[in-house]
Amino acid sequence: MTGDQSLCQEIVDTARALSPKGLGVGRSGNVSARCADGMLITPSGVPYETMSVDDIVQVNEAGNVPENSLEPSSEWRFHQAIYQSRPEAGAVVHCHSRFATVLACARTPIPAFHYMVAVAGGADIACADYAVFGSEDLSRSVISALNGRSACLMANHGQVAFGNTLAAAFELACEVEELSAQYCEALKLNRVHLLSTVEMDAVLERFKSYGRNA
Ligand SMILES: [Zn+2]
Repeated sequence: MTGDQSLCQEIVDTARALSPKGLGVGRSGNVSARCADGMLITPSGVPYETMSVDDIVQVNEAGNVPENSLEPSSEWRFHQAIYQSRPEAGAVVHCHSRFATVLACARTPIPAFHYMVAVAGGADIACADYAVFGSEDLSRSVISALNGRSACLMANHGQVAFGNTLAAAFELACEVEELSAQYCEALKLNRVHLLSTVEMDAVLERFKSYGRNA
């Protein structure tokens, strides 16, 4: 297996793990990884159960795909925008996981209700403005919501997370989903106590020095 082939296998494995981990149903969601000339991404319209390494699509820096390749996921544009604007991004996981999508449909960002919110890199997790899927407007709103963060919600759509590896991006998407579920429940109590800027700064500082498992 060449480097790209093993990366394609990792993309297939990650896409197949979305549903068992509660990150998506059916074909919603898509997974990509940075490669030498652009990115490798899951194709449009292929069920994850039958997807093979050969179905993964390479999209180059100019947004073109090789002849005879399948169509990339219709949402490839914001994946590409993330790689182009965030040099530290090695992989992107996008999904319509239930609770992240519930908050996104209410256009409710996740505030500092729990210290783990800092796992995405800041004191809150923003919600990107709505734009039709696959559009450049959506890419712009995602990049803006990701400012200083590695995950965001997407209004009336879902969530996106990136990391330096597929495993890191996937783990972050799982964490965003869990935080979303917790926040949805906490909202029902009508008395959520938010952490202060000073308290969140201390968490962010700790995450920097001890890593995400602190
Ligand atoms: Zn989507």
